[in-house]
Amino acid sequence: MVYKMNIPFVDAHCHVYGLGKDRLKEVLKDTVVVGVAEDLDTSRKIIELSNQFSNIIPLVGLHPWKVDTATEKELEEIVSLIDKARGLGEIGLDGKARALEKQLMFFEQQLKIASEYDLPVNLHSRAAWQEVMNLLLKYEIKSAIWHWYSGPIELLKDFEAQGYFITINPSVIFQDKHLKVLEQAPMSIILTESDGPYEYRGKYLTPAEIPSLVAFIARVKQTTAKKVKQAIWENLLRIFPTIEFNNNK
Ligand SMILES: [Zn+2]
Repeated sequence: MVYKMNIPFVDAHCHVYGLGKDRLKEVLKDTVVVGVAEDLDTSRKIIELSNQFSNIIPLVGLHPWKVDTATEKELEEIVSLIDKARGLGEIGLDGKARALEKQLMFFEQQLKIASEYDLPVNLHSRAAWQEVMNLLLKYEIKSAIWHWYSGPIELLKDFEAQGYFITINPSVIFQDKHLKVLEQAPMSIILTESDGPYEYRGKYLTPAEIPSLVAFIARVKQTTAKKVKQAIWENLLRIFPTIEFNNNK
């Protein structure tokens, strides 16, 4: 068999610093990973890892769960890393988490930066989906990845109209709301993610789950895993047009 261009798997939302170098090396042989941060420390770690591994796309940001204890100074320092990053994430709002007003303030500051530098955002939007959408429009954000999207189905057509993407997480096999999203979303807005390393309802999520997730998506969409893999890679290239997959590590 002759191999044509090697298409990688995509993990469009992964906390890479939690994986351990050996695991990470293994994963990056066949996967391009969008590394999302949660605070200053992890933002720095992601930049460092992306210098060592070309298949990591580094994002920096302050997670809504971390806002509660974060300072303005920390946010400033995260933002000062922006020249070394390819976007902002994981940022957003969490309607079920604490300090909503401060979350909103810090999210807006990060959206301003994304808008100014014309960078993609990788979003946490649990129980605040419409609010997040309104803010993206307010700040004229052109490129967005809605991570593990399990919000209202009605928003999918708005995402499509704006050129936004959603990620599907391996939990889709047992999370009904998320499965509904997968069923209704067109392939043209879908990416895969692990959110790893993370344990959710007894399932251990890591980038190693992506191949079986792709196979699952193919079954739901009644197509082949190969076609799904290709479509997802092309979707990622719409967000990061200059990236290349380097399978020589
Ligand atoms: Zn995450």
